[in-house]
Amino acid sequence: MMKIDILSLFPEMFDGFLNTSIIKRAIDSSLVEVVIHDFREYADNKHKKVDDYPYGGGQGMVLMCQPIIDCLKDIVTKESLVILMSPQGKTLEQSYSQKLSLEKHLVIICGHYEGFDERIRDYVDVELSIGDYVLTGGELASMVVCDSVIRLLDGAIKDISHEDDSFSAGLLEYPQYTRPYEYDGNSVPDVLMSGHHENIRKWRLKQSLLKTYHKRPDLLKKKDLSQEELKILQEIQKND
Ligand code: SAM
Repeated sequence: MMKIDILSLFPEMFDGFLNTSIIKRAIDSSLVEVVIHDFREYADNKHKKVDDYPYGGGQGMVLMCQPIIDCLKDIVTKESLVILMSPQGKTLEQSYSQKLSLEKHLVIICGHYEGFDERIRDYVDVELSIGDYVLTGGELASMVVCDSVIRLLDGAIKDISHEDDSFSAGLLEYPQYTRPYEYDGNSVPDVLMSGHHENIRKWRLKQSLLKTYHKRPDLLKKKDLSQEELKILQEIQKND
């Protein structure tokens, strides 16, 4: 079972996340244990203060190192990977979520206010961002990381459903349809109704390549394309 410990000043933010849908099911079936630690409880001062003014002056408050580092000392073992949520970190990608899903123990630190005392970074293995924008705190970002990792754990969802997901194979996912067959004059592509598995596979691959070519051409540059994919892509480029 994977264990995820999250350090946060706002544990109540996680209630809905941990008690809904696939994440709740994964917890109930013991695929993962998630524990939220309010690191304010570790503050060694009378008023449980966790932030202070920045040395050298400047705007806002900075999280002090003592509460977070003492909390980490209680939780971290040799098997832990300590992640600091930060807009300065490397941007989360599906391939990295796949790597994280193989870890035994994730410890995730959520910041708040203007940021952290720099010395906290000495206790961190990875600094992770969810995109080039700034949130008020690391809670939502840590939930994004947890969600993308937990759904990849064996048994959380049918394997086949995430193998086809966008990014899993380096391409965007093909278009999906469900009932009704026709809606507002728009019907489902014939090939999907044909029951011909090979033709459906080829159609989906072509649609994946088309979508990726138009929406995220950068992904195609990174991907090792198979002979079949290269041939389809050349056709797409010819007709563009
Ligand atoms: N002043 C900091 C800076 O420029 O790096 C930003 C602090 S931000 C207001 C407060 C906290 O929210 C951060 O410490 C981090 O934990 C979290 N956070 C904000 N944006 C994030 C992002 N894009 N990805 C991950 N965490 C983020």
